Amino acid sequence: MLSKGFSGGVIIDNPYPVDQVDIIQAPLPSRVVLPLQQRIGEEAKPCVEIGDKVLTGQIIAQTEDVFCVPIHASISGTVVSIDQQLIPHKSGLKSNCITIESDGQDEWIETQGCGSDFLHCDRQTMIDYIQQSGIVGLGGAGFPSHTKLHKALDCHTLIINGTECEPGVMCDDALMQHYPREVIRGVEILLHITGAQKAIIAIEDDKQEAYQSLLMFNHNSRIELVQIPTKYTSGAEKLLIKALLDIEISSGGFAADKGVVCQNVSSTKAIYDAVIEKRPLVSRIVTVSGNALVPINVEVRLGASFDHIISLAKVNNKEHDYRMGGMMMGVDIESTSLPICKITNCIFVNNKTTKPQPKECIRCGNCNIACPVGLLPQQLYWHAKSENIDKCMNYNLMDCIECACCNYVCPSDIDLVNYFSFAKALHKKQTLDQHRIDIARERFEFREHRLERNKRERSEMMATKKKALKEKMAKDKGNTQKDKIAQAMARIKKTKEDNA
Ligand code: SF4
Ligand code: SF4
Repeated sequence: MLSKGFSGGVIIDNPYPVDQVDIIQAPLPSRVVLPLQQRIGEEAKPCVEIGDKVLTGQIIAQTEDVFCVPIHASISGTVVSIDQQLIPHKSGLKSNCITIESDGQDEWIETQGCGSDFLHCDRQTMIDYIQQSGIVGLGGAGFPSHTKLHKALDCHTLIINGTECEPGVMCDDALMQHYPREVIRGVEILLHITGAQKAIIAIEDDKQEAYQSLLMFNHNSRIELVQIPTKYTSGAEKLLIKALLDIEISSGGFAADKGVVCQNVSSTKAIYDAVIEKRPLVSRIVTVSGNALVPINVEVRLGASFDHIISLAKVNNKEHDYRMGGMMMGVDIESTSLPICKITNCIFVNNKTTKPQPKECIRCGNCNIACPVGLLPQQLYWHAKSENIDKCMNYNLMDCIECACCNYVCPSDIDLVNYFSFAKALHKKQTLDQHRIDIARERFEFREHRLERNKRERSEMMATKKKALKEKMAKDKGNTQKDKIAQAMARIKKTKEDNA
């Protein structure tokens, strides 16, 4: 079956194609650096100390935050530091990391999952294994899979996203070609967990080998393979759901609200490992591409440095620019000593170039046509540039998925996405500021109200006291008068009696 696709987006051929999509097994790194801050949620707390010996797959840090998964040692060896290190994040900031030096043994912890006959395992046990094995979205989002599955219990359709998120990235293609049995079994596990009636594996139509590999291993009538046109950004979740099921997910809405759950194809394979063997996620496939080398796909331990896998490619000896995460939505990086993490799907190594200088907008409207979510980037650009955030919000700024299709087609080389990220950050700040102002105003109003209430209560209390005092005094006065009369009467009575 071939899906209709979606409007907008851009067609970009893989700029660095290869004849064969192979996977190279990277040698065991001599050390790994494992960040404690994950994509979302609170930072994990180390449960090892410097000098501790650890085994591959052992939990070395965890948190009670339900959105998070534990951090596992990706090699066996010795913990040599727990300190701040540069991590692969667009902020370019350092974060707490655990560094392990390899003992060269790659000695694993013992694990036992549901086994290949997984149907006897209840779905909560499977979700627990997925969480304990540290499975997150490997397509780039890094959202913990167990949380997503919890929200999707009893959904009607499961979508397995086998589209590469960006042109030039081949890691999911490589995974589908080399692990088709595990992917199909992973989909069956997900059908069992979610209770979905059917699963659709979506693959771009330029990945025929991957499509054929999966087709050969799929004997389940509830699993359908669908080829979608090779167009960027077909991998975006909402667009994929629209293209496959004609279901619109509203702005701010979730797929689960409509009975749909999406999982990346690499995450599906990791879920297979987690459920069948309870095998922790300690490695991933990374594409190393760009015009400075012959592209490769490498299966590498998490925490190994970018250099560790770049060195496996045939790189020319010119000066290079580096980028992680794809040519469209990726981030330029200065250092290649950064550690590979769960969402590192691609590293680009390109010959050094000077970026073209942006020119004036010529109002050609190309960006409006290219936007896959139906925004008007040209209008957004003007309002973002003048920092008119209210206007940006009127043009649905928050629906922008920062796919950079508008950048790609802009003849004036304007970095529109940069303006949109800035406008979003400004909106966030203004909303936070407004929130703080609202809280301060509420506090002030409450204080005023409290003071007013205290004053009123005090004056009411005083009035009540005064009244009571008055009444008492009047009563006392009355009593005194009565007593005096009674005493006089008694005296008169006594005198009369004495004289009688
Ligand atoms: S970056 Fe935003 S505005 Fe530009 S094409 Fe993508 S979604 Fe549309
Ligand atoms: S593509 Fe560039 S030049 Fe054309 S309207 Fe959009 S921002 Fe302006």
